[in-house]
Amino acid sequence: MTDQELAIKIRGLKKTYAAEGASPEKIALKGIDLSIPKGSIFGLLGPNGAGKSTIINIIAGVVDKTEGSVEVWGFDINKDTRNAKANIGIVPQEVHIDAYFTPFEILELYAGYYGIPKAERRSMEILRAMRLEDQRDAYTRLLSGGMKRRLLVGKAMVHNPAILVLDEPTAGVDVELRKHIWQYVRELNKKGVTIVLTTHYLEEAEELCDEIAIINHGELVICEKTPKLLNQLDEKMIVILPVNPVSELPDTIKEIGGKLNDDGNIIIHFSPSTITVGEILNKIAATDIEISDLKTEESDLEDIFLQLTKSNEG
Ligand code: ADP
Ligand code: MG
Repeated sequence: MTDQELAIKIRGLKKTYAAEGASPEKIALKGIDLSIPKGSIFGLLGPNGAGKSTIINIIAGVVDKTEGSVEVWGFDINKDTRNAKANIGIVPQEVHIDAYFTPFEILELYAGYYGIPKAERRSMEILRAMRLEDQRDAYTRLLSGGMKRRLLVGKAMVHNPAILVLDEPTAGVDVELRKHIWQYVRELNKKGVTIVLTTHYLEEAEELCDEIAIINHGELVICEKTPKLLNQLDEKMIVILPVNPVSELPDTIKEIGGKLNDDGNIIIHFSPSTITVGEILNKIAATDIEISDLKTEESDLEDIFLQLTKSNEG
């Protein structure tokens, strides 16, 4: 991928938070490389404390990096800060909102910060897109949590940035609103906006993102297109329902990872590259277990995540 095709390019990014009071120095990022393509919905996935917000806050210019480089739409965030900022809108993790202005006033205020002339402002258009047109002149502090979050997204969009970054957009929001936010993110992306979002919801990344980077302990664990990431995991599961209850599994089945479930099913986790389903069935056929029913399952993102982060922990 050439640099022209990248919305965000991160190389060798390191961050050490200085010791403060009783808290010791904290290495939050250990050298991250990320290439985020223009036009994508890109997910930064990782557990709490992985370093997601640190990456976002460095991109946003809110946190200073310790080492490495970050380019936004081709502009270095330190050498060409103005242009970098003009191309990005950030929706922070914390819902922190100017409670004493109306939603309309807040959008106008931010447009003002970005130096957008009155004639070019799109405050009403943004309120409509966020389904907040009826709240135009409401007391912002009286809005529901979901409405405040939508207003934050709107606020990040006032300067019509090419990239929208959402830090945990759906953390702590109910299922219905989560779907709402996903839908809006997809709409924006269809209009050409590159979306970067962080999440610790695996389901969210799987559902929404074209490409996923998994971060853990300040390191990049993996970065792949979503289908490839899902395919890549060399693990499948086969569930066998025996005709007659099995009290003890034969050794030949234990040897290939077979386990007896409480419900009487036999569960076998296996790597398709080392053993095929046919070979497993042959092994079963060589015992006196009769198969009543069987199914195989792909691993989902949750499995991948657990596997990858587990192998990273030692
Ligand atoms: P995430 O967003 O993935 O949950 P963060 O980037 O917020 O992770 O945090 C990464 C690590 O850096 C955590 O261990 C966190 O405690 C630490 N950290 C974050 N912000 C600060 C800060 N301002 N000062 C010191 N340590 C911090
Ligand atoms: Mg965070």
